Formats: sequence, structure tokens, C-alpha cells
Amino acid sequence: MRQYNQTKRILVTGGAGFLGSHLCERLVSQGHDVLCLDNFFTGSRRNVEHLLDSPRFELMRHDVTFPLYVEVDEIYNLACPASPIHYQYDPVQTTKTSVHGAINMLGLAKRVRAKILQASTSEVYGDPEVHPQPESYWGRVNPIGPRSCYDEGKRCAETLFFDYYRQHRLRIKVVRIFNTYGPRMHPNDGRVVSNFIVQALNGEDITIYGNGSQTRSFCYVDDLIEAMDRTMNTPDDFTGPVNIGNPGEFSMLELAEQVIALTGSRSKLRHLPLPTDDPKQRCPDSSLAKAALGGWEPQVPLAEGLKRTIEYFDALLARER
Ligand code: NAD
Ligand code: UDP
Ligand code: UDP
Repeated sequence: MRQYNQTKRILVTGGAGFLGSHLCERLVSQGHDVLCLDNFFTGSRRNVEHLLDSPRFELMRHDVTFPLYVEVDEIYNLACPASPIHYQYDPVQTTKTSVHGAINMLGLAKRVRAKILQASTSEVYGDPEVHPQPESYWGRVNPIGPRSCYDEGKRCAETLFFDYYRQHRLRIKVVRIFNTYGPRMHPNDGRVVSNFIVQALNGEDITIYGNGSQTRSFCYVDDLIEAMDRTMNTPDDFTGPVNIGNPGEFSMLELAEQVIALTGSRSKLRHLPLPTDDPKQRCPDSSLAKAALGGWEPQVPLAEGLKRTIEYFDALLARER
């Protein structure tokens, strides 16, 4: 049983989104007081409605591009649309969310001396020439393309975190998250796992962009949340950045085959043009995560994670039919 003095007041920005809702759930179950902040651009009340009755949970509508005055011990900064369709919908707002959002949350952390974790991304590596990607790789990012609002916004947020660390001695943690999937992904956000599953369950064509040989590494949400929690609780001299992802690497064709097999769908593959600047390969070098996070390794293999995600979407689509 957690003691009173171990209870922390924790702010989760973007807490009503896919990853944020799982994080809030975990922190509430650990006995912390959680303030979930979201502007509901891509997240929803529905993602956290099972937490609303808990006296430990509070939901607040707020946009991180505006200042925020609250008293907390820890901040997880997740606010930012994550799928290409959503972050390209209003690219200026995406950059503002990453940059102004980081400045405001760092300013808040500085005032209340809170520890703060940034949800960064493997997109900081861009279309990488080094494979798999270690944290020491500086990346290959187009600064003026359609993905830049997200990639460069996240890169600038990392810069701000490290400058507040050096200049103001803030306690910071930066995690670089690789493609993560699981229940509560938005069904229409265009990300590959949700797209393929929804298409397979509806018996529609599975849309492969390009020839489908591009690769990604997919981490199940529970493994990611475990690593985030462990990162926040590392000693103060550990700042990251640390890659968090599953080193299993699959082409989009292989992913489509697995989804078809697991759903028993009759969907056919349909090839569509490859989006601009789509990275050809991505796979984390996760040796730092293993060493720094107490031997952390992903526990859920792709087939098992897909099964759980398919169950979620099956129930969701059944409710909507
Ligand atoms: P998501 O879109 O489900 O969640 C983002 C949340 O942030 C949403 O609830 C959205 O409404 C909220 N939000 C957006 N702009 C905001 C603003 N200005 N003010 C307040 N709230 C705002 O996406 P997710 O997959 O849960 O991603 C969460 C975080 O993790 C993001 O920062 C994302 O960049 C990062 N990330 C995710 C992945 C992944 O594969 N899921 C990979 C790399 C990084
Ligand atoms: N800020 C905030 N909440 C706080 C403290 C600061 O939202 O509790 C915002 C504030 O609006 C400012 C930003 O964080 O724009 C950066 O704050 P900092 O103190 O680092 O810089 P300064 O206020 O000197 O610009
Ligand atoms: N993709 C695809 N079909 C889809 C959606 C995505 O082939 O219906 C591809 C996309 O081109 C990319 C990969 O799947 O190469 C992962 O895309 P996602 O948007 O999920 O993530 P990101 O590109 O940000 O890693």
C-alpha cells in the first residue's frame, strides 16, 4: 500500500489521448493525484471516462500553448497530435503546441520545481541513414517539408528541455518514442496499425503506401507506459534522451499479412502513392533503455499486441454499427 507521503500530484498534458489515457490510468492505480489536461483536438473524454469517478483524477480542458498555473510535483508532457493526418491538418498549431507548449510547461516546472518528462519521437531521426538508430545519431530531417511541423517542433522542444536543464537546473527526462499501438488509438487518424485493422474488420482494401517495403518497429502500449514510468523514476542525473520502442522490425507488407491472418479477413491489398518524406526504415537501438531502465525490454510480441488491439476495434466498430 502506498504511503501518504509517496502520493504525488502529477500533471499529464495530452492525457485524454491514446498514450496519455493509459498513462493516467496507471498513475491513478499507483495512488497518485492526476491532473489530466487536454484541448481534445485528437483526444476525447471517452478515453478517460472510466477514471472520472476516481477522487484521484481531475480532467481539465486547456491548450498548452497558453500559460498554466497549477501546483504539481511531476509533469508528463504528451500534448501534441501524433498522426501525420492530424499534425498536418493545422501545421502552424502543431509547431506552436510543441514549442510554446514546451516553454509553458518548462516555465511551470521551473516555478514549482517539478520534474518534467517530454514525449519526444523517433521522428527526430527523420529518414535515417544510420540503422538501427542510437540516441547519439543526430538525424536527417527535412526542415521545410509537410512533416517538418512535427519533426522540427519536437526537435526544438528537446532543445528547450536541455537548455532549461543546463540554464535553470531543471530535472528533465526526454523519451524518444517509436511507433506505438494498442487500444484507444483513434480509428480514423490514419496511422498504419489502426488503418489496417479497421480496413480488415470492415472487409475493405488494405491501403499500402508505396511498395510496402518500408519498415517500422511497433511497440505495444503497455510496454511503452512501463518504460515511461521507469524513465520518470530514474536518478536525477539521468536525462535521456532515451529511445523507447520494440526492436522487432517489420515491413508494411508483413504487417498487412499479419493483420489479415489474425482477423481472418478477405481484404485485398491496394497500393497508393507513398507520402512525401515517408521514412524508409525505422528501428530503435534500445540498448540504453535496457541499461538505464532496470533491464526494461518489451514483453508483448507483435502478434499478441495486434490481437488485443483487434479485439478493441472489433468492439468499437460493433458499437458504431
Ligand atoms: P494522441 O493524438 O492520441 O494524443 C495527443 C493528445 O494531445 C490528444 O489528446 C490531443 O487532444 C492533445 N493535444 C493536442 N494538442 C494540444 C494542445 N495544444 N493542448 C492540449 N492538448 C493537446 O497521440 P498519442 O499517440 O497518444 O501521442 C502522445 C504523445 O506521444 C505525443 O506527444 C506524440 O508526439 C508522442 N509520440 C507518440 C507516438 C506513437 O506512436 N503513438 C510515437 C512518438 C511520439
Ligand atoms: N509559465 C506558466 N506557468 C507557470 C510559470 C510560467 O505557464 O507556472 C509560462 C510563462 O507564461 C512563460 C513560460 O512559462 O511564458 C516560460 O517561463 P519562464 O519563467 O521560463 O520564462 P519567462 O517568464 O521569464 O519568459
Ligand atoms: N502506411 C501505409 N498504409 C496506411 C497508413 C500508413 O502503408 O494506411 C505506411 C506509411 O506510409 C508509413 C508507415 O505505414 O510508411 C507508418 O505510418 P504511420 O503514419 O503509422 O507512422 P509514421 O510514418 O509516423 O511512422
